[in-house]
Amino acid sequence: MITDFEFRKQIMDFHVGSDLIKYCYQCSRCADNCPVTKVTTDFYGTTGYNPRGNILQALLGYKDMIFSADDLVIWGCTVCDTCDEVCPQNIELTEIFTLLKNMSIEQGRGPEFIYSQAKAIFENAKAIPSQPAIERRREQLGLPAVAAPDVNELQTLLKNIGADKKLK
Ligand code: SF4
Ligand code: SF4
Repeated sequence: MITDFEFRKQIMDFHVGSDLIKYCYQCSRCADNCPVTKVTTDFYGTTGYNPRGNILQALLGYKDMIFSADDLVIWGCTVCDTCDEVCPQNIELTEIFTLLKNMSIEQGRGPEFIYSQAKAIFENAKAIPSQPAIERRREQLGLPAVAAPDVNELQTLLKNIGADKKLK
């Protein structure tokens, strides 16, 4: 295992406000309470999603190990914030996991489903574009029509932050 000190510094600097970040003592409370760990461990056995392991690898600077692993390692977290709530060391795990996701996109190594969802949002200003069947069903149920989003406005915003260039 090779420690990437620059990567490790990036992780540490991200939490400059909390000295406690350096002292994850691997109690596993985050993994014990993570809903994704629960379902993926049931599904994959011992190789399920593991926030404790991710934090350990990030704090040790094991960049290659993290970015060459299965997409689940970085993208499994649904940001439900449970681990942040239960960590006895007040480590904001989700902040670190968000940093890892951003690094993954910077490297152009995000999983396909992220790019296709981002593309759907860019093109429709919605994660799930409206469909005639949904609209008919809403009408049958007496629900009001959903107002169309301003696609141009969203695209302008996304272009201004360079998000369109990240789409494959
Ligand atoms: S709950 Fe906090 S201290 Fe315990 S393993 Fe997870 S990140 Fe480390
Ligand atoms: S925020 Fe992510 S890692 Fe933490 S408990 Fe929720 S799904 Fe698991």
